[in-house]
Amino acid sequence: MFETLSDRLSGVFDKLRGRGALAEADVRAAMREVRIALLEADVALPVVREFVEKATEQAVGQNVLKSVTPGQQVVKIVNDALVEMLGSDQVDLELDVAPPAVVMMVGLQGSGKTTTTAKIAKRLTERGRKRVMMASLDVNRPAAQEQLATLGTQTSVATLPIVEGQQPVDIARRALQAAKLQGFDVVMLDTAGRLHVDQALMDEMKALADISKPQEILLVVDALTGQDAVNVAKNFSDQVPLTGVVLTRMDGDARGGAALSMRAVTGKPIKFVGTGEKLDAIELFHPGRVAGRILG
Ligand code: GDP
Repeated sequence: MFETLSDRLSGVFDKLRGRGALAEADVRAAMREVRIALLEADVALPVVREFVEKATEQAVGQNVLKSVTPGQQVVKIVNDALVEMLGSDQVDLELDVAPPAVVMMVGLQGSGKTTTTAKIAKRLTERGRKRVMMASLDVNRPAAQEQLATLGTQTSVATLPIVEGQQPVDIARRALQAAKLQGFDVVMLDTAGRLHVDQALMDEMKALADISKPQEILLVVDALTGQDAVNVAKNFSDQVPLTGVVLTRMDGDARGGAALSMRAVTGKPIKFVGTGEKLDAIELFHPGRVAGRILG
């Protein structure tokens, strides 16, 4: 569907075969193609600018290797810079504290937050051999709490019993207490989403973070979020101390540019990607794989 970056750059560099070093004018011409490739992959514009600036600095003046074309060399420089910016390593959850460790899930409505809560709980139960309890703090959306209870049944993960009419902060307190008394290792708090970021939502997130003192606060973002990814990331990370990001719907058409935007704005690692609707469709984030996908 998309022209690959190598294809685009071969045209730009055809004329300079045989020269010694990557000249600034050639690199700038190549970076115009890189810029288009990143925008097509849905990387947010301010992040594209910052990235192109950095990659240009790295590329200018590099000796052209004999074994590759200048185009291939620029692709490698860009790819390496992307991997570096995405975070060179996979980063798992850090829950090494006196139990119960608290994982708080935040994000916009429809981002896949509730599904991801259940996926992570299942993964922690099966691979991490942890005793996990989930609690839905979403009292706005009808049936949100029932949705999580159903997912709990499907994944054989305990959920906090629902008490009608209770407010999010009180549900969180009850979850922590129940987890302590019943010896759970991890409590996962699935917070309410909104269609757009608003102050009432942020105040609620802050209050919940204050009382539950989470080891992890994960921002769940749909990989199809394009230019808006910067606003979402900025709003959440300004208000609550995020520890990581989960990118959902990476099984779809998304090129994954949101990963770069989210990482650049929050400064926090992308920890997982969601790869389907099934409850085991979640993987640790591979920076190299996503860099390749962004570049096409
Ligand atoms: P929430 O409003 O943020 O809690 O979103 P939900 O967890 O209810 O998810 C909304 C929809 O997205 C559901 O139909 C999920 O099955 C679907 N979904 C969540 N994560 C993924 C994913 O990684 N890939 C795909 N294809 N669908 C997903």
